[in-house]
Amino acid sequence: MSTVVDKPTTDAPNIDVKSPVTGEVMYQIQDITEDQVGDIYARAHDAHQRVSSMTVAQRVAEVTKLKKWILEHKEEIIDKICAETGKSRTDALISEIFNTVDALQYYEQNAEKHLAPQKVPTPIILFPKKSKVYFEPIGPVLVISPWNYPFNLTVIPLVCAFVAGNSVVFKPSEYTPLHGLLEKMCEDTGFPKDAFQVIYGGKDTGRRLIDGKPAKIFFTGSTRAGREIMKQAADYLIPVELELGGKDPFIVFDDVNLDRTVNGAIWGGMSNCGQTCTAVERAIVHEKIYPEFVEKLKAKLENLSSATKQRDPSDSLSLDVGVMTTEFQVEKVQELVEDAISNGATVLVGGKRGEGHQFEPTVLTDVTPEMRIVKEETFGPVITVQKFSSENEAVALANDSIYGLSASVWSADLDRADRIARQIVTGNVSINNVLATQGNSALPYGGTKESGFGRYKGSFGLHAFSNVKSVLVDKQGSMLELNWYPYSKEKYALFSKLIDTVYGGAPFALVKAIGIGAKLQKLSKKKHL
Ligand code: NAD
Repeated sequence: MSTVVDKPTTDAPNIDVKSPVTGEVMYQIQDITEDQVGDIYARAHDAHQRVSSMTVAQRVAEVTKLKKWILEHKEEIIDKICAETGKSRTDALISEIFNTVDALQYYEQNAEKHLAPQKVPTPIILFPKKSKVYFEPIGPVLVISPWNYPFNLTVIPLVCAFVAGNSVVFKPSEYTPLHGLLEKMCEDTGFPKDAFQVIYGGKDTGRRLIDGKPAKIFFTGSTRAGREIMKQAADYLIPVELELGGKDPFIVFDDVNLDRTVNGAIWGGMSNCGQTCTAVERAIVHEKIYPEFVEKLKAKLENLSSATKQRDPSDSLSLDVGVMTTEFQVEKVQELVEDAISNGATVLVGGKRGEGHQFEPTVLTDVTPEMRIVKEETFGPVITVQKFSSENEAVALANDSIYGLSASVWSADLDRADRIARQIVTGNVSINNVLATQGNSALPYGGTKESGFGRYKGSFGLHAFSNVKSVLVDKQGSMLELNWYPYSKEKYALFSKLIDTVYGGAPFALVKAIGIGAKLQKLSKKKHL
């Protein structure tokens, strides 16, 4: 296959981009050098000036062009995504294209409203002032992405940052750089020059780009890297938003439709070959239905078409689960599964890697909370199943994790499901559905605990990249503020009375406050500096 080295003029070592299916080197990229960082940010700052002076409507018009381009090129985009990630075509269509264009359309329809100045009520005590909030651009934003959804997790933050008025410096994962694709999108649509720069490379490139002092870092990736990035950003006081790992619980009560629920568990656990931060990793099932749940899970998993066992090898679109993207992740999954088995877990289905990056869709039972497979993010096609007998136990098992990204609760009793959803420490919960919160572009998205912090998507997605500026407007005139200098015994006593009256729940507080205010006003007029 062709070899493309981006910026071949530097001495930095080449990084191989390999096919997850064949292991063949498809092309190479290079880390940037320290010398290149200055130019990248000079371009980003210049672009920022231009982007920030556009109206929101003008920026949205650019998003409309991107959306149109994505729709027109979706098969080409999917080809590239599948070649570099190894995911099934339908996974790519649904999670990379569908979710992305939906988010773009959401911003087309809602960005102007979310970024419009907001009026904020001004309390009577501040009469006749007025208060408002502006959402203003912040400067070049650095977006660093992982390899599991290289298109979705790039285009959505790009659009959020851009629509809010910022330029973006983007570093894709060195495993799935989608070389040239996003540049082509920007070129074909006439996207503002340098408003979106794609900078290839690995961790060293990421570190160098942080040293370039972006206005904000939007990072999606592992908790390990999130920690490193936050430490580095702390030296410059760069704000960071961290979208990190997960270990999602899938809680099932005994009143559910088992067929639908088990299908949900399988899709939630296996889509994108389990390499989803919000994948179902821990099924927590009521003891009454546990045997039937496990039996159905096994039977339905036998019918899944995966790279290890294809339903119809001649029909590529019927492939449910593709291969894993990176060798190190396949090894990690294998290590965790073997560790669980050696500590007493039972393999209900799967359990082994196949050729290359294939890994069998796997379910493990008889797992304990101490096992690594229950504690660590597996990020592969593996679901563990645990039993519970009471609501408290279900919640305790779900919360027994360093992560808190997403969860799902399944029950016909919606009050109970809601009660449980409120008790799970997490950023997102789907009730009687799975990975569903991400399906609504109006809902904010982000984690708690070691899954990170910050929220994007919905209105939060624009405000995450905005300087939220508070403005209070007063009238011009001769009137002095009651709380200004000079202070005096009399002023102290009047203010003390005003506070007690307004906040102490006194009857006719407003009338009394107006009386005290009038005295303070007289005092301010009589005595000023
Ligand atoms: P990773 O953390 O290894 O790498 C992510 C990106 O960060 C890559 O582009 C990498 O080059 C860069 N990077 C790594 N260390 C860096 C450093 N010190 N400084 C600057 N850049 C650095 O993650 P990954 O293996 O690509 O992705 C898998 C992880 O991402 C999983 O833990 C998964 O749960 C998480 N993830 C989270 C979300 C979410 O929305 N919360 C979404 C997708 C993936």
